This record gives sequence, structure tokens and C-alpha cells, in this order.
Amino acid sequence: MTVERLKNYIGGKWVESDSTTTYPVTNPATGEVIGECPLSTTSELDAAVRSAGIAFQTWRRVPAQDRIQFLFRLKTLMDEHAEELAATVTRENGKTLSEALGSVQRGIQMIEVATGAPTLLMGQSLEDIAQGIDCETVRQPLGVFACVAPFNFPAMVPLWFFPFAVACGNTFVCKPSEQVPFSQKLIWELIHEAGFPPGVLNLVNGGREVVEGICEHPGIAGVSFVGSSPVAEKVYASAAATRKRVQALGGAKNFIIVMPDADMVHTASNVSESAFGCAGERCLAASVILAVGDAHDVVREGLVKEMEAIVIGDGSQPGVTMGPLINAAAKQRVVDFIELGVSEGAELVVDGRDAEVSENGFFLGPTLFDNVSPEMKIASQEIFGPVLCLQGVESLDEALAITKAQPLANANSIFTASGKAARQFRYEVDACMAGVNIGVAAPMAFFSFGGAKGSFFGDLKAHGREAFDFFTDRKVFISRW
Ligand code: NAD
Repeated sequence: MTVERLKNYIGGKWVESDSTTTYPVTNPATGEVIGECPLSTTSELDAAVRSAGIAFQTWRRVPAQDRIQFLFRLKTLMDEHAEELAATVTRENGKTLSEALGSVQRGIQMIEVATGAPTLLMGQSLEDIAQGIDCETVRQPLGVFACVAPFNFPAMVPLWFFPFAVACGNTFVCKPSEQVPFSQKLIWELIHEAGFPPGVLNLVNGGREVVEGICEHPGIAGVSFVGSSPVAEKVYASAAATRKRVQALGGAKNFIIVMPDADMVHTASNVSESAFGCAGERCLAASVILAVGDAHDVVREGLVKEMEAIVIGDGSQPGVTMGPLINAAAKQRVVDFIELGVSEGAELVVDGRDAEVSENGFFLGPTLFDNVSPEMKIASQEIFGPVLCLQGVESLDEALAITKAQPLANANSIFTASGKAARQFRYEVDACMAGVNIGVAAPMAFFSFGGAKGSFFGDLKAHGREAFDFFTDRKVFISRW
């Protein structure tokens, strides 16, 4: 079988990259190499930025009502190709088909919300701010924006940004993860079919060199980054140093508090789905359960039962509920964390290394540690795999204090039947995505998405109304006639 070499999409055309370096894209369920992703050069990035810069001069003058017609066409095309997109996500990322389809649908919803631009772009006005003087604000696009995406949601993450950016009148350069470039290739084919003017939406495949080029490029007005915290922090600092707007969404270590009054059947199934769905490669995945008082034993028993029911295998096959990890290095990293947990003295209740899995592909079973304590590395560092930690605590106050001492604060949840406990949690928790009786606190397209502390660098979060603030500047006019 010939291995496809991916192309860039610049100025409305598919172009071969000049780069001699490529990243081998694999199907994580088989280990088979399915593509070669070129690691494009900064001069190729520059060509895309220049093309986007030229397109901006015309695109910003297209009325918002006309701009969104292209998004309506893209949405229709994406609906028609949703299953093909989901199969592509599964093939390059490993998650199950139903997980992949869910992520594609979440992505399509971003386009739907972005088509609200004619209303959401409106400014404000007030007559007579002083006698005979009127004041109004208008929102204006800023120019060329870029996004850098992670491997774990190959189709969805760029959709958190580009529909909003172009609906606001900006133009765009997308750099997908080199590990999973096929989903964006398909989306950009649909963008081409939707008829966006050349240069409005560009795709540059690559790795670190392109990201550094994006941060430094004087022709780029703003950057949206999603990935691990160390890279997010670096992107935030270097892009801000060249005066760009930046929103950099980083890594996670998500805590779930379980109160003794929670519905334990619902809790165990929700927490298990949160921890092991997408093989734990999700920034909203449950990482540590803090079980208050009597909740500990019940939740442990419930989790073990849920974990026994997980079906590991190739995500494209019916009945499979957990696919492989993205690659061999990611699997080894998780195995190393399991060994570390044992050496740190945690109790290994379910060992994912024991699961019967295919030798081809990067499979690992789900793991549960109990008697974990906050000073252990497994309880504070992002593992990004199917490993769940459990710790018994005495009170909600103690549980909240543990979460507040953590450097990362992406998503936290509480399971309880008590409004009082839920209110205290809402009031005090640091994470900006917080769930009550919800295992995966994922804001939908019309709300904003992003964590706090070491999980987010910037001010304005992804999608929702905040996207219209991130992708526009507000001008204030004060007039006397
Ligand atoms: P990553 O940080 O390794 O890579 C993300 C992107 O940055 C990729 O496009 C990659 O090419 C680029 N990159 C990698 N190293 C770089 C470097 N040194 N300099 C410049 N660019 C670099 O992340 P990943 O492994 O692809 O994704 C998993 C991570 O993403 C996890 O930490 C996860 O929590 C996080 N994530 C966060 C969110 C969120 O909303 N906060 C969502 C999804 C994923």
C-alpha cells in the first residue's frame, strides 16, 4: 500500500511541501504507517500568512451576513461527511467510532454558533453621553489568526477557532498536530468545496518549527493554542512577546469529589466513562477521585465493576468501548506512571498492563490506584492515559483544599445529592469547567471553554461569546455634529 504524503493548503490550492522531513502518521490500532506528514518550513508558513494577509483586505469588507453563507455551506458538507470524518478520526487517533462521531458533531456545533456573527458582532451605543454627544462601539476584525492543535481531538479542536475567526472577518492559518493530520485534510477539502475565497483559510502541516514561526511572525495578529502546559506556556510567552493576542489551553489533572450522599451507580458509570473514554486522552478526563467518608468503599467497588465491562480493541469495530493510545511512546509513558505509582506506595487495584490486548497497536487496559496521596506524582502530574487514582478524604473541605493546592485546574466535578455541598464546590473550586453530577464537564459551543491556573494562559477562552471578543477589537466613536 502506498503511504500518502500530506499537502498544505495555501491561497485556495493544495501545494506539496518542500520539506524533506516528515512525521510518520500511524493507525494506533494496528501500528501501521498510514501517512507522511511534512514538517513544513517557516518559509511555507510565511507563504500561508502572506496569502491570508492579502485575503483579509477583501474578506473583512464582505458583510457578515454574506461571510456566514460560506459557513452554512461548510456545515451542510460536514453533516454529509460526518461519518467519513469520524472514521478518519478513529483511523489516525484510535478513539472509538462513537467517540469520534461525538467529537465531529461538537465541531459542527461550533460552525452553527459562529453563524450567529451578524448578531454577536454588534456593538453598543448611547446617545447623549454629554449633551449633543453620542457614543458607539463597533467590533472590527484584526487580521490573520493562527491555531495550533493537539493530537487528541483531530477534527474538533481547530473548529473551536477558525469558524469564529472568519465569521468575524479575519483570515486564518491552521496547524494540525503532525500525529493526526488527515481529519483536517478532509475538513479543508470541504472548505474548498464550500467555496471560501482563496487565502481565507489556510492549512500548514508541521511541528515545532511551524509553531515557533507562528509565534514570531509579524503578520499574525493572534494565536490559539491547545496542547500540553509546558508548550502552552512557551507559546503564550513567545507570541505575546511579538504583541499577539494569545489563548493557550494547556494540560489537565482533573479531580472529582464524591460525597457519601451521591447516587453511586450513576457516579461510578460517569466517572469510569470520564476516566477511560478516549483511553483517558482527554483534557477533561477524570484523573483523581476524592471520595468523602463512606463514599470510598462504595465508589471503589462500583468503579471496578465498570472497568471489568470495558471492551478494549480497534475503535472502528462495533462493541469496542476503549481504543488504543496514540503511539508506542505514549503507551510507554503511561506504563512508566503505573510503575511509578507502585513505587510511590499506592495500591494497584486494577492493573491495565494485565489486560489481554492485541500485540499490534498501542493498547493498554484501564488502571485503578487506591490509597493515593496528594504528594505522589501519580496524583499531581498529567498522565494522559487510562489511569484513575482514588483517595479517601474526611470532608468536602479537605477535598477542596487538595484540589486548590494543585497547579493545574482544567475541569473538576462533584457528585452529590446536596445542594449545599454543590454550592460550596461551585463557589470555591479553582477549575473554570466544573460539573455537578457530570463526569465530563465539557462546555458546548455557545459557552466558553478553558481552564485556570497552569491549565490556561491568556484571558479570553475558546468559543462561545468570548470568541467574538478574542477575534475582534472594539473601537469607540464619540461624535458631536
Ligand atoms: P503537545 O503540547 O505535545 O502538542 C500540541 C501542539 O504543539 C502540536 O501541534 C505540536 O506540533 C506542537 N508542539 C509540540 N511540542 C512543541 C514545542 N516544543 N514547541 C512548539 N510546538 C510544539 O500536546 P499533545 O500531546 O498533542 O496533546 C495532548 C495535550 O493537550 C495534553 O496535555 C492535553 O491535556 C492537552 N489538551 C488540552 C486541552 C484543553 O482544552 N485545555 C484540549 C485538548 C488537549
